[in-house]
Amino acid sequence: MANVVVVGAQWGDEGKGKIVDWLSIEADIVVRFQGGHNAGHTLVIGNQVYKLALLPSGIVRPGKLSVIGNGVVLDPHHLVDEIAKISAQGVKVTPDNLKIADNVTLILALHRELDAHRESASVAGVKIGTTKRGIGPAYEDKVGRRAIRLMDLAEPDSLDEKIDRLLAHHDPLRRGLGLEPVTRAAIRAELEDVAPKVLPYMDAVWDLLETARRDGKRILFEGAQGALLDVDHGTYPFVTSSNTVAANAATGSGLGPKAIGYVLGIAKAYTTRVGGGPFPTELHDETGQRLGDRGHEFGTNTGRRRRCGWFDAVLVRQTVKTSGIDGIALTKLDILDGFEEIKVCVGYLLDGARVNRFPASQAAQARVTPIYETMEGWAGTTAGARSWAELPAQAIKYVRRIEELIEAPVALLSTSPERADTILVHNPFRD
Ligand code: IMP
Repeated sequence: MANVVVVGAQWGDEGKGKIVDWLSIEADIVVRFQGGHNAGHTLVIGNQVYKLALLPSGIVRPGKLSVIGNGVVLDPHHLVDEIAKISAQGVKVTPDNLKIADNVTLILALHRELDAHRESASVAGVKIGTTKRGIGPAYEDKVGRRAIRLMDLAEPDSLDEKIDRLLAHHDPLRRGLGLEPVTRAAIRAELEDVAPKVLPYMDAVWDLLETARRDGKRILFEGAQGALLDVDHGTYPFVTSSNTVAANAATGSGLGPKAIGYVLGIAKAYTTRVGGGPFPTELHDETGQRLGDRGHEFGTNTGRRRRCGWFDAVLVRQTVKTSGIDGIALTKLDILDGFEEIKVCVGYLLDGARVNRFPASQAAQARVTPIYETMEGWAGTTAGARSWAELPAQAIKYVRRIEELIEAPVALLSTSPERADTILVHNPFRD
């Protein structure tokens, strides 16, 4: 039985929450493998709306095991708050249905502060438009081999040593930036306060997942952000600090690459992006405004208005390749209802020549201009459609053209935030 990985095929906010929730019904275990509480997943179940940032989406479904893998950066204070919030909505979170990798990296107050400081800096080229959650600085400490990890909270005797190693880096950095020094005692107090609230969830999740996999349990790996925010394959430096591509589902949870199975990419029928960075099909006109208004394009987490533009088939074709996407779930097609014409980017012009991929260089990325194919829109509505037969012919044409251009089939089509408003072509878990 194949496991399924769900990844964003654009710059995040593709509507992964609904699709992951939909798939989680068939899964036994839902695993987060990268990112942190910079993600924002909205789940609409009946008349309840759940907003998750760090917890795997499976948490709202009784009987499912939710796992936070080692590839995540975990803000323990945020975790405690999110558990409290979701518990107030009637969701049960216990050490039986939530497991956190013992080797997960922690986000501390000093990471959040550093992130926010950089974002407020007037120095050109420093501002990325991050979520200011401390994600980047925490990953820096992880690869710098000075991070505090969850299991360190269980070993108070050696904690001071680890804090000193961390401060040997942060002290001079903070001095240079003009930030107040942080004491060892303050960090220790921050960690000791939260330790008893998070340690009960700690486990060797790589082992637990491998055992579950051998027992034939179905695992759903829930990606956060999108493949274009991948630290290697995205629009560097305007990216997040983790690998968001599907392959990281293995590394970020402690399993081998064969554990991954089917890769489902999620793409919106148009494009959005939050934060800075290149966005070739961005619309600064009324059409962009209309997409944003109709699509309620505001960040789940930060409330920021998202930048909007036409579907960029070049970029999605690229993420189909870098993530090894087997099929796409196309979301928010209904937002295009009523547009007289719809454009799709099919290539770029770079210095007068046509290119069919997004160049890696930052300077070249800023110079490309999209080559559009214009398609006729549709008068009818796709909102709430549950079968192809309910879709206007022109909308089907649009979907088919996208499939051709991105070189991947549409496995699912989502036509509203409601779980049932989904057209299923191929069930990633079943065949
Ligand atoms: P960071 O992940 O907070 O460091 O932010 C880096 C970039 O990733 C910024 O452009 C953010 O707007 C973007 N980003 C981070 N998380 C998300 C997400 O869940 N959806 C969309 N963009 C995100």
